[in-house]
Amino acid sequence: MYDAIIVGGGPAGLSAALILGRCLRSVLVCDAGHPRNASSHALHAYLTREGISPLDFLQTARDELKKFEKVSIAQCEVTKATRRDDQFEVTLLDGRIFQSRKLLLATGVVDVIPKIHGIMDFFGKSIFNCPYCDGWEVRHQKLAVYGKAHRGLKLAKSLKTWSNDILLCTDGASGLSKEDCEVLERNNIQLVDHKIIRLEGDDGRLKKIIFENGDVSEREAMFFNTESYIRSRLLEQFECNFSEEDGVERGKYEKTEIPGLYVAGNILREVQLVIVAAAEGAQAAFGINSALAKEDLN
Ligand SMILES: Cc1cc2nc3c(=O)[nH]c(=O)nc-3n(C[C@H](O)[C@H](O)[C@H](O)COP(=O)(O)OP(=O)(O)OC[C@H]3O[C@@H](n4cnc5c(N)ncnc54)[C@H](O)[C@@H]3O)c2cc1C
Repeated sequence: MYDAIIVGGGPAGLSAALILGRCLRSVLVCDAGHPRNASSHALHAYLTREGISPLDFLQTARDELKKFEKVSIAQCEVTKATRRDDQFEVTLLDGRIFQSRKLLLATGVVDVIPKIHGIMDFFGKSIFNCPYCDGWEVRHQKLAVYGKAHRGLKLAKSLKTWSNDILLCTDGASGLSKEDCEVLERNNIQLVDHKIIRLEGDDGRLKKIIFENGDVSEREAMFFNTESYIRSRLLEQFECNFSEEDGVERGKYEKTEIPGLYVAGNILREVQLVIVAAAEGAQAAFGINSALAKEDLN
């Protein structure tokens, strides 16, 4: 029986494992190995780690955990998680079953990538979804925003922090009102509502967007604002209040209303930065260790 099982070995889960390892707790991290930013060329906005490869960042975190003898990592998806008699039981895809006193879900979210032919050649290199992560690298450049209705409008306005040359592409009917279009005009944001047929560029660097009507726009980067969804269905296996938009309901130290169940990282739908996910993992670990210590004291 582990003190804690952590589902998800991204920044949130590994950060929690580090704190719990330092508290001499026995911990199993189960990770399916699909971190959200796997396509990204570089991690930004993490103090002291500016520009590191996201996969190197995670490998460094895993290497640092090796000195804690009671922390282990199972490179496998968790398919089932249950709670019975104050204990949790998780089942892995390969059939292994483990028990723990506390459970932390740090399973992240998945982005819905716009359906544009060839987009994956550019995703994470010059097509991004988070201006706070990648806006600075393309500051003052010719930027495109991909998004419909208010999502597109909101992102286009926010990109004005980084560039004055913004083209909002709605890839078909914009869903924008007359008032919305006036906002765009007042803020000098161009709007194109023709369908995009393809993207052109070299080596992951976007150069042109080709529209269905034959128009071509030279653009150096694109940001999109499509939806993302919670990656794992494990939350649904507990009667835990959560919504795709607002994340998981929880109290102090990321503790949910299910006794012993904690959550951390992007699943919370707070600021979606690695440094924040790591901090949330640390908070949850603090909560978990405090609860375990309290239970064990006479
Ligand atoms: C293209 C791109 C670029 C980005 N760039 C930056 C950046 O520069 N700076 C920044 O701060 N943020 C950036 N982000 C955001 C960053 O990726 C997230 O903030 C961060 O990954 C969240 O960490 P997490 O631990 O919550 O989730 P994740 O990193 O997604 O990790 C969750 C882990 O849980 C695993 N998992 C899920 N379900 C299960 C299961 N059932 N069983 C076992 N394992 C499971 C997944 O496989 C994954 O490994 C970027 C995102 C994208 C998409």
